[in-house]
Amino acid sequence: MGTMFFSERGNCSLCGQEKMKSQGLCVYCLERLEFVYGREKTGQVYTDYFLFANDFFRRYFYSFKFFSKTYLAVAFARILVTEGEKRNLFENVDAIIPIPMYPAEQRQRGYNQVLLLAEEVYKMTGIPVYRTLEKIRETKKQHHLSLRNRRENLKDAFYFKGESDGKRFLLLDDFVTTGSTMKEAAEAVLKGNGRIAGAMALASTMHPMFP
Ligand SMILES: [Zn+2]
Repeated sequence: MGTMFFSERGNCSLCGQEKMKSQGLCVYCLERLEFVYGREKTGQVYTDYFLFANDFFRRYFYSFKFFSKTYLAVAFARILVTEGEKRNLFENVDAIIPIPMYPAEQRQRGYNQVLLLAEEVYKMTGIPVYRTLEKIRETKKQHHLSLRNRRENLKDAFYFKGESDGKRFLLLDDFVTTGSTMKEAAEAVLKGNGRIAGAMALASTMHPMFP
């Protein structure tokens, strides 16, 4: 291994161990994350994602999402930025819109993990975060529902507030499964006269099929 790759020494931003690392991650974590670039199409929206949500990823992600390990936003945002920039996915993006939580749900958790990711992406790319999308309806947890029920569950769940000024938005979420959330969110943005530059999720819950 060349010195270019393992150029930093310090604490891994995921597991916290002091090891030689690349892009903020140690070799141990890099080997266990499954980088699988994929693209999910729902309606007119393409959602790009970079990781398969395997057990190793879920263990860290759930402690970020549900157990207040908010410092992990840095590690996950760095993956979004590194992988997204490789594929020019931040080009032509005026602002990032994180997929919102229903207000009561966010109050209970105390934070929205997707917003934290978006704020870290902003620090790394300079692309501003717009909190112009609202979740106006409480929805059921998607993973218990069939595809058809997922779409009905999310119908008109989002509302775009404020002025878009024709800006091109990148929608950001943590997981993508069927893309129903992105589709509904995109429709709300379009109704508000915004434009969709793309959609991005950190991980997919479905393992992509390799040709
Ligand atoms: Zn590590």
